[in-house]
Amino acid sequence: MSKTPDLHTHSTASDGTLSPRELMARAAAQGVEVLALTDHDTLAGIDEAATAARALGLTLVPGVEISVTWNARTIHVIGLDVDPHCARLRAGLAGLLAYREQRAAEIAQRLARAGWPGALEGARAQAKGALVGRTHFARFLVQRGAAQDVRSVFKRFLVKGKPGHVAGRWTTLEEAVGWIRAAGGQAVVAHPARYGLTRSRMKRLLDDFRACGGRGIEVVSGSHSRDDAFTFARWAREQGLLASAGSDYHGPESPWIELGQLPPLPDGCRPIWSQPGFARHGGAWPSPLAPTMSPGLDLAPA
Ligand code: AMP
Ligand code: MN
Ligand code: MN
Ligand code: MN
Repeated sequence: MSKTPDLHTHSTASDGTLSPRELMARAAAQGVEVLALTDHDTLAGIDEAATAARALGLTLVPGVEISVTWNARTIHVIGLDVDPHCARLRAGLAGLLAYREQRAAEIAQRLARAGWPGALEGARAQAKGALVGRTHFARFLVQRGAAQDVRSVFKRFLVKGKPGHVAGRWTTLEEAVGWIRAAGGQAVVAHPARYGLTRSRMKRLLDDFRACGGRGIEVVSGSHSRDDAFTFARWAREQGLLASAGSDYHGPESPWIELGQLPPLPDGCRPIWSQPGFARHGGAWPSPLAPTMSPGLDLAPA
């Protein structure tokens, strides 16, 4: 693996704008060799992505970005190289999807009180049958002319202290990491610089995360500055965590982030993708009915 792999991306299965197939095609066109699809709280895009990746000669790492509530904050935990058939992971994610439905209704009620009726139907139309997230509400409100772009909708309506904000009640750190490990995957804290944590709270988060069996943190991220990358390279070293890298690509509407155009990890990082057995299935996990294989065995494509 010569190039830095891209281990954090979204498709229309959550709040990205490219279908899993389109995402894989764009990744291949960008020269990406290894890509993880990590939609929010769902594995719904993995099958389509795996089929497309095989046809394109791209290595797909099946993944997911799990919404977690830790000390009253929302933290995103990436599961990499998960078995998409794992019943425990799937059951956990089903619970999060049910909560998303409830939260969407609450967001819509609040927006209606603020003078923007019809937001649940509007967000659902944006989601086109996939799970409903805040981004879908934001796209609906842009369409209605409530603000110029998605970013300003977030700022004016959807973040803490604003009329459409609902404090998330997601799963625990322990549960999320537990599901990922049950699925044979590696748990990674997504974009750690985004949480605005003090040093002591960051230390507590990473201590808790390691105690649950967490393995890595995103050092290089589409939402990190180069300084952030150096800061979190140091955190990874000090905490004995592996380093991951991902664009957090959501689609061509955000042209400042491209698939796989990631700088290398700072010196001294241990890349999560250099671990033995990483991406060994290349997205071709054995079907749940196939006989159990020993871990680390190279599987011939089906
Ligand atoms: P949700 O999981 O439904 O609460 O939505 C979280 C997603 O909203 C993130 O993954 C981003 O895609 C998007 N998002 C969060 N904050 C912002 C922001 N300030 N501006 C634009 N998009 C945002
Ligand atoms: Mn998102
Ligand atoms: Mn995230
Ligand atoms: Mn993401």
